[in-house]
Amino acid sequence: MKRELVRQLAAIVGDGQVATAPEELAAYSYDGSVREFPPTAVVFPRDRDQIAAILRLASATGTPVTPRGAGTGMAGGACPVKGGIVLALAGLNKIVEIDRANQVVVTQPGVITAELQAEVARHGLYYPPDPASRAFCTIGGNVACGAGGPAAVKYGVTRDYVLALEAVLADGRVIRSGVRTAKGVVGYDLTRLLVGSEGTLAVISEITLRLIPQPPAKTTFLALCRDMHQAVTLVNTILGQLTPCTLEYLDHTALGLVGERLPADLKKQARNALLLLELDGDRETVAAQSRRLRALLAGQEGVTLREAADPGETAELWAARKALSPAAFQLRPHKISEDVVVPRSRIPDLVAHTEELSRLHRLPLFTFGHAGDGNIHVNIMLDRDNADELVQGEAARTSLYRKVLALGGTLSGEHGVGISKATAIEAELGRETLQLMRELKRVFDPDNILNPGKIFS
Ligand SMILES: Cc1cc2nc3c(=O)[nH]c(=O)nc-3n(C[C@H](O)[C@H](O)[C@H](O)COP(=O)(O)OP(=O)(O)OC[C@H]3O[C@@H](n4cnc5c(N)ncnc54)[C@H](O)[C@@H]3O)c2cc1C
Repeated sequence: MKRELVRQLAAIVGDGQVATAPEELAAYSYDGSVREFPPTAVVFPRDRDQIAAILRLASATGTPVTPRGAGTGMAGGACPVKGGIVLALAGLNKIVEIDRANQVVVTQPGVITAELQAEVARHGLYYPPDPASRAFCTIGGNVACGAGGPAAVKYGVTRDYVLALEAVLADGRVIRSGVRTAKGVVGYDLTRLLVGSEGTLAVISEITLRLIPQPPAKTTFLALCRDMHQAVTLVNTILGQLTPCTLEYLDHTALGLVGERLPADLKKQARNALLLLELDGDRETVAAQSRRLRALLAGQEGVTLREAADPGETAELWAARKALSPAAFQLRPHKISEDVVVPRSRIPDLVAHTEELSRLHRLPLFTFGHAGDGNIHVNIMLDRDNADELVQGEAARTSLYRKVLALGGTLSGEHGVGISKATAIEAELGRETLQLMRELKRVFDPDNILNPGKIFS
């Protein structure tokens, strides 16, 4: 069976475009969630017609297909949990068209997000969604997960920029959704349905994105605050008067991990929370907003504000934030990484709850993230080889989910459901809504070959 499947795949994509060696299967068995499920074969299509032929074959043989961009997803979405075929889409990596007059880019899904941003910037255009992984994730993966990043506080997330999609259905039919124009309301909004569908409804083969003009100026500030409560109060004050394009925070545990990376004079100051803030626009607007920010924070006791003098200093201010993920492993060898969202004003409640969880479950926890969106990255640090810590970590996660929903939040702001949250989402969505989603899945994919085992437990 396996040999026949591989032979038929090779007939579609050509020799050398199907991998079956154990080391190749191992390389495509995991993603950023660090769980492993080896596939039967990895296939590397080069165009939409090859994707369609592969899906026709998979449908006919009942073979599971897991679409994959760069495999950086944090929820296990690209893990082939039921085996079968990994559809590796990184080879569809061409930008098809940049339409400068209409501020639109048409791209294949395998293009690396930062490369797409750099290419449109050469035309004076800006694609704002900026996941921290943008140097190595694909735009197709961003669309499939509904990715976001620090710029979301001003510019929104991937979903806000997808105008149209071309996608291949499970049986090989090709559909087009959306428009290339600024407006369009003909028929159901299938584009928005496919964005964030995590490869469970269709394989996205072409993406049309809205662009905006590149902002000519940007400046970066770092504010050290007395405590989390003060930091969050400031977030609300700032957003009431200014529109920053980044508004990130680190809690006191996170700050403890990376405080050494702060500029020399700042690291001497003991503070319990940090805000990283950026303003962009034309030069006059940035200058005026910077003055307002300084005036706003001038009267705040215990706040130290620093503006980067040049790009070197900007990089220095960002270094602390970027050093956080690797530094976390000083605490424990593994982590449960959650990306919950709460209404902004409830961030202090959530952070207080994580501190309580840390005490109760005897595990180090820290939070950081997109304060402007209420999107909080909660990291439960543990040693997975220690049975007790594993039990405690899972209990802490369950309690975190309960608290987030009680605060009026959602279980994921950008990473998606994948396998990590599949058993938890009914508590957020409700039985009827989840059932409707299952029915939609059956309409798109009656034989359940597209990314089975994801989203639905
Ligand atoms: C260090 C690090 C930082 C990160 N920071 C952020 C962040 O700031 N914001 C954020 O949102 N995420 C972040 N992520 C998570 C991840 O990078 C994003 O979810 C990203 O969108 C995944 O893209 P990918 O190309 O790696 O997709 P993959 O991991 O390969 O796939 C993700 C999902 O999309 C599906 N998929 C991929 N391509 C297609 C396609 N063409 N058609 C249909 N389905 C498809 C897969 O089946 C899977 O379900 C981070 C990850 C890491 C490792």
